[in-house]
Amino acid sequence: MVSSQLESRGIRDERVLNAMAKIPRHLFVDEWLRDRAYSDNPLPIGERQTISQPYIVALMTEALELQGHEKVLEIGTGSGYQAAVLAELADRVCSIERIASIASRARTLIESLDYFNVLIWVGDGTYGWREEAPFDAIIVTAGAPDVPKAYKEQLAVGGRLVIPVGDRHTQVLLRYTRLSEDIDDMKEEDLGGCRFVDLIGNHGWKQ
Ligand code: SAM
Repeated sequence: MVSSQLESRGIRDERVLNAMAKIPRHLFVDEWLRDRAYSDNPLPIGERQTISQPYIVALMTEALELQGHEKVLEIGTGSGYQAAVLAELADRVCSIERIASIASRARTLIESLDYFNVLIWVGDGTYGWREEAPFDAIIVTAGAPDVPKAYKEQLAVGGRLVIPVGDRHTQVLLRYTRLSEDIDDMKEEDLGGCRFVDLIGNHGWKQ
């Protein structure tokens, strides 16, 4: 997976490659899907949700440029795989999932793998996590109609936000870097096209 899907497509961050080589991705999918866990596509995790394609996880993670000292917010815990990758690369991970059963399964798995720096909370992640802000990095793993204001407000100056934005079928992966105290003073970069399940919530899509 690492050489044929990630390195071959230009993922260069050694820390990201090592983390994804180390984490047992097959544990994050149902038993009947285990032989496809390392394949080059997203897979269902129940409740009409998915674990993202390995390349997309790597691309988004690399774009956060984590060094190890950061506090990261993830929106959309899903299987917990992305949270495990972040737990390897940052100091603390705060992850929000709107579906309680999915969050509970991810929490059990993450704990069983001895990641003690991950906090999983059930709720509408379109508000961010005000009590834990500011964040050095924010990663949104569901497609949004636009960028919820809370993410800009809760991003530290110098921090990076990676988010898919578009319609309900296709999105563009955007990276924002906050340049100053002014929440509109953001550098925006286009990382390419992608396709995610909906970010559902008060500042996302309606169910
Ligand atoms: N990061 C996940 C992983 O590693 O498996 C994949 C996430 S999956 C593509 C998107 C997830 O976002 C789903 O589990 C969905 O329930 C969740 N989601 C959608 N809207 C949300 C919201 N407003 N707040 C929190 N989670 C949300």
